[in-house]
Amino acid sequence: MKKRSAIFLFLFYAIFTLNAQDWSSIFAKLSEASLTPISNQEALPYAFDALEPYIDARTMELHYSKHHAAYTTNMNNTAKESETAHLSLFEVFNNMSKYPVGLRNNGGGYYNHLIFWKMMKPAGGDKPQGKLMDALINEFGSYDAFAEKFSDAAAKRFGSGWAWLSLDAEGKLFVSSTPNQDNPMMDVSDKRGIPILGIDVWEHAYYLKYQNRRLEYIKNFWNVINWDEVSRRYEEALHALEKE
Ligand code: MN
Repeated sequence: MKKRSAIFLFLFYAIFTLNAQDWSSIFAKLSEASLTPISNQEALPYAFDALEPYIDARTMELHYSKHHAAYTTNMNNTAKESETAHLSLFEVFNNMSKYPVGLRNNGGGYYNHLIFWKMMKPAGGDKPQGKLMDALINEFGSYDAFAEKFSDAAAKRFGSGWAWLSLDAEGKLFVSSTPNQDNPMMDVSDKRGIPILGIDVWEHAYYLKYQNRRLEYIKNFWNVINWDEVSRRYEEALHALEKE
């Protein structure tokens, strides 16, 4: 690489790479910024059987009332033990590498599921509209190209984790995947951003109905996406990223 292009590359990263402080002020503008590691589970926004036949009632019941409930209880306990109860959950995510791994796993588990339930709805799955649709086409070339990329990220996550659609610091959409209960808001994440859509690909999310057929679960997930909520999150994230 020529010296001049090396300098240009350095400047590019210096200008466009946000530090923790920047993310902190951006996260603080989001409506969920008041969440703390001492939180209760919110009620599921629909009945356990509402997402049938794509996600079965028994899976939803166990996923919500056992798995999500356990993450919530364990997050509360870990927050008390680690004296992080007074912090906002997003502050914890933004400095995740400094806190106990129990808080990473359970704080992530609490928040990821909280937003996951809302990102789905009965008879969802049409297609996004307006500004979000325009942005998806602009970024990925077409809606189908985006859908393929997202499904692919979900399919290829080895073991347990999530696939996400998020906004980066410049407000650009990107697809990524995180292991375990990590999410793109955490400082331990490879690429950071504000998630607006996510799919849980832990086996507990699909095994009762689909067994080893993760691809079939991913394909059916498209039938239950709540695009109104994803669009709402998109607008809110864009607003939080606006420079003052
Ligand atoms: Mn889960």
